[in-house]
Amino acid sequence: MLQLFQKAKIYAQKTAIVSNGGSYTYQQLLFASQQLAALLLDRTSDLKEQRIAFLVEPGFDYVRVQWGIWQAGGIAVPLCITHPLPSLQYVIEDTEASAIVVSPSFREVLQGYAEDKTIRFVVLEPENDRKSAELPEIDKSRRAMILYTSGTTNLPKGVVTTHANLEAQISTLVAAWGWTSADHTLCILPLHHVHGIINVVSCALWSGAVCEFLPSFSAEKVFELFAASRLNVFMAVPTIYFKLIAHFESLDEGEQQRLTAAMKRFRLMVSGSAALPVSVMEKWETISGHRLLERYGMTEIGMAISNPYVGERKAGFIGLPLPGVSIRLADEANIKLADTSEPGEIQVKGANVFKEYWRKPEATTTSFTTDGWFKTGDIAEVEHGYYKILGRNSVDIIKSGGYKISALEIEEVLRSHPAVSDCAVVGLPDEEWGETVAAAIVGDASLDTEELTPWLKARMPGYRVPRKYLSLSELPRNAMGKVTKNDVKKLFNT
Ligand code: ATP
Ligand code: MG
Repeated sequence: MLQLFQKAKIYAQKTAIVSNGGSYTYQQLLFASQQLAALLLDRTSDLKEQRIAFLVEPGFDYVRVQWGIWQAGGIAVPLCITHPLPSLQYVIEDTEASAIVVSPSFREVLQGYAEDKTIRFVVLEPENDRKSAELPEIDKSRRAMILYTSGTTNLPKGVVTTHANLEAQISTLVAAWGWTSADHTLCILPLHHVHGIINVVSCALWSGAVCEFLPSFSAEKVFELFAASRLNVFMAVPTIYFKLIAHFESLDEGEQQRLTAAMKRFRLMVSGSAALPVSVMEKWETISGHRLLERYGMTEIGMAISNPYVGERKAGFIGLPLPGVSIRLADEANIKLADTSEPGEIQVKGANVFKEYWRKPEATTTSFTTDGWFKTGDIAEVEHGYYKILGRNSVDIIKSGGYKISALEIEEVLRSHPAVSDCAVVGLPDEEWGETVAAAIVGDASLDTEELTPWLKARMPGYRVPRKYLSLSELPRNAMGKVTKNDVKKLFNT
């Protein structure tokens, strides 16, 4: 039996999940998932890595389905509940799913499609729970899950992880961030990306902790739950912290003091998935009394670099390599840099690293060096042992007149301008310079972008100062709240 389920047995009588007004023990979760496994098996003895896609709201049913698929020997393919039909079809067809499992509320969305394509269609209903079967023994080396990358720079790719990969990703974080069975976390993140499904849900359930779900995000509701004083661990992406801060600032002083006092109870608050602006980190510390722990990870590797749980959490840095994860910085020829104060590509090795891109053998081969390091495409440098992300090689590292310019560093300075609330710096094609620096700005009505040039010149070398500006009311972002820079570039051309 896989470790996750062995652990669930130890905590059988404890609460595992709180969702939709219900509370469920580990035993209930195990039992319900075994019943679902039996249903999926349907007289076969092992799904043998068949892909099972599922469209289920975050909560008890979601985990039950995922665990059920694993116990039946299938590969779990979570679908995003907010995606339109064509995006769902893309994933179902790309993975050649043999069955689709849905909650009753999503029946309408996929039933017709499943019938047309003669794909087995399972609706979660109470009568599902009457089956029992011998469950197969699952070897850790088997494929467990296909998650699609966020599609920030390109079409999303299916990332295949084995049970061993997932166990490595989860156990490393549980140890590094001090998870215990006394913890109680709130999940507000989508579950078709590692941040939600690994860092929040799986770490909590591996530890015997309580995982509470909020069906849809609202800043007001999150603070209400913070004030209820049950929670002690919280994880989110920078845009969520940004929204929470804005809501907090709209409250009256008495209410603010009450919330600040309630947040003292937390032991850990984490940010990741995109660079955390220093201003957001500082404001959140004033509001909550907690210094956010920023970490770095990817669908392909889980988490790899993290600020310490105990020790200095440096603003603007992603921290130190996690135990069990090997990290190096390499140059364009994939040679390890001797001097890591120079920028290089983050390359990763370890049990956490994924097996392959789904049915993209060429992409898999080219994403590894000949000596087996995974090439993240992210550029970083090291200062006093702490890694600092300079950005993605493809969109954030602007190659202009022989310089390599980090868009992220310029954005950090721009955000400190009083009239700039958000921004995205990109490189636009330029005949003379190769690329020219350009900035899309979300700012106050008072902001005159002409004034930004002298202001920036006083704060950075001239070659980094944007030559073009574009005012926007908001930045284009994907479902994880990440700025999609290829869309920003297109906006400059329209
Ligand atoms: P795609 O690969 O489809 O373009 P994506 O890379 O955004 O999408 P994910 O795997 O969800 O898909 O995201 C991983 C990326 O997120 C990393 O490669 C890195 O660029 C970025 N990232 C994650 N954490 C941080 C962080 N703390 N600071 C800056 N960037 C981060
Ligand atoms: Mg990526």
